Amino acid sequence: MPHPVTFHDLTDVEGIPPALLRRTESDLSVFIERVKPIIDKVRTEGDAALRHFAQAFDNVSVPDMAIRATEEEFDDAFRAVDPEVVRSIEYGIANIRRFHEAQKPEDSWMVEVRPGLWAGDRCLPIESVACYVPRGKGAFPSVVNMTAIPGKVAGVPRLVIITPPAPDGRVDPGTLVAARLIGVDEVYKCGGAQGVAAVAYGTETVPACAKIVGPGSPYVVAAKRLLSDILDPGTPAGPSEAIILTDDSVDPEIAVLDLLIESEHGPDSSAWLVTSSRRVAEAAIEALPRHWAQMDDRRADFSRAVLGGAHGGVILTRDFDAAVAFTNAYAPEHLELLTSDPMADLGRIRNAGEVLLGTASPVTLCNYVLGPNAVLPTNRSARTHSPLSVHDYMKRMSFARVAPEAYPEAAAHAERFARYEGFTAHARAVSSARPMPTLVRR
Ligand code: NAD
Repeated sequence: MPHPVTFHDLTDVEGIPPALLRRTESDLSVFIERVKPIIDKVRTEGDAALRHFAQAFDNVSVPDMAIRATEEEFDDAFRAVDPEVVRSIEYGIANIRRFHEAQKPEDSWMVEVRPGLWAGDRCLPIESVACYVPRGKGAFPSVVNMTAIPGKVAGVPRLVIITPPAPDGRVDPGTLVAARLIGVDEVYKCGGAQGVAAVAYGTETVPACAKIVGPGSPYVVAAKRLLSDILDPGTPAGPSEAIILTDDSVDPEIAVLDLLIESEHGPDSSAWLVTSSRRVAEAAIEALPRHWAQMDDRRADFSRAVLGGAHGGVILTRDFDAAVAFTNAYAPEHLELLTSDPMADLGRIRNAGEVLLGTASPVTLCNYVLGPNAVLPTNRSARTHSPLSVHDYMKRMSFARVAPEAYPEAAAHAERFARYEGFTAHARAVSSARPMPTLVRR
């Protein structure tokens, strides 16, 4: 019988086998073809198409479903959700808001590049952003918090939420509770490709937006790609992935508990325990079946598929340097650093969406309540991309002004550039006399 846990002993291997850096890369081409007619129908039929697809894909049995969540639905949601859960949503909101407020850039800055040459940036919120909150394999008020709070902190004037409806034509109550607590009152019942098309084109009810943020199924990802000319699709966030990186100091039971977190998301997730300790590796492999037996059946099946498959399991390295080198090459979305001195080891990590330091900061905490954003770059894009942040809801606009005394020197240099590049109009514009402004200081 094959071992239920994938194990790679790299202690005698030079270099990193390229196959270990791969994730499940679902082929989007089939989804691209499937969503094209959906997008077309929303473009031409608007709200009627959204109601049609809600019945077809979300099993909605209410033909005249209101596409925008009503005030009454928001009020009902607060009655439906356990007050203790509301308190936990509030606790998460407070921490996530504080983190993102600290992250917000100054409204503007200016520098005197040389005497008389002034230049700077203005930072402005994007005018309209849609937050996609998934509702296929579960309900995710946590995604409301992660996508809507940075948008509110950035000051986006029109921040809306789109999410698939339940069969009764209503929005998940936890999603509505989080939205109201954050101050978002526009929640639209449309998900999948039809939801993305609705905020790209606008319908009778749903406003057209400039950008969309948030994770989603391959239908959502395919629609974002097809509509990227008219709707900024933001940083791609695919199936979840994590590395639990340890030396010999960790209790293997803790390492296993945390390895299981990412593996229960779905069979397309990736989760590796990367360790320089044979003791930790062997104890983890032995412990996993015992933990699967204590999990919900569906989640245990997902976890077994991940940790016994090609994209998860246990990797033993020659020493801790090799474990760090593997982690930097893999560039995981989530990284837990379970070592004797995680703060010191943080300086050795170059590529990861987030780094959680020590045994008291498991991914669960960060996904819900610590403050940093849990929408993170996946599939090795942490090598060049950052977590979702206030910056994703803002843009910069540069400005410059030249004082009369600085003009002649700057103009002479610019004219030489222009003539070299063959731009005669550029050159004439700075070689001709022009009235010099008086700088007014207010
Ligand atoms: P989803 O809302 O993204 O997708 C469900 C929608 O897909 C449906 O409403 C429907 O419109 C569409 N759809 C379903 N079947 C279809 C079909 N046959 N044809 C056309 N459209 C169809 O929800 P999901 O499926 O649960 O996917 C959510 C994704 O987001 C998962 O990959 C999950 O791992 C990820 N996720 C990430 C985070 C995070 O913070 N990074 C949090 C939660 C979920």
